[in-house]
Amino acid sequence: MSEKTIFQKIIDREIPAPLVYEDDLVAAFNDVNPQAPTHVLIVPKKLIPRVGEATAEDQATLGALLLAAGKIADKLGIKDRSKGFRLVINHGKDAGESVPHMHVHLLAGRPLDWPPG
Ligand code: C5P
Repeated sequence: MSEKTIFQKIIDREIPAPLVYEDDLVAAFNDVNPQAPTHVLIVPKKLIPRVGEATAEDQATLGALLLAAGKIADKLGIKDRSKGFRLVINHGKDAGESVPHMHVHLLAGRPLDWPPG
């Protein structure tokens, strides 16, 4: 069996990190190197290395990631359209993926440029 990812160790509570949100399928915690005042990572408990490798079996998990984003945004008071947030998923080298355990970045708290860099 391959080495657990850093995110799996956080999910399994082997590495301490306060959880911002948790349900049966996903967990969320603050990014250690935040790129915005709010930078939360929403991670499936089941290892999906990257989004393009998800299968039909992962459909509920993929939905849970986006539903969790809405709940976290509500909890953090950024769901209102006058504020807002951005979700990002990096798949592979050109996108800047650095941890091979799929995750959704939730960024907020400042105006976010478009197009992204
Ligand atoms: O999308 P990507 O794979 O590049 O994102 C990985 C993210 O995981 C980075 O934003 C990085 O700061 C974060 N990270 C973390 N805690 C770690 C290792 C990486 O929050 N121990």
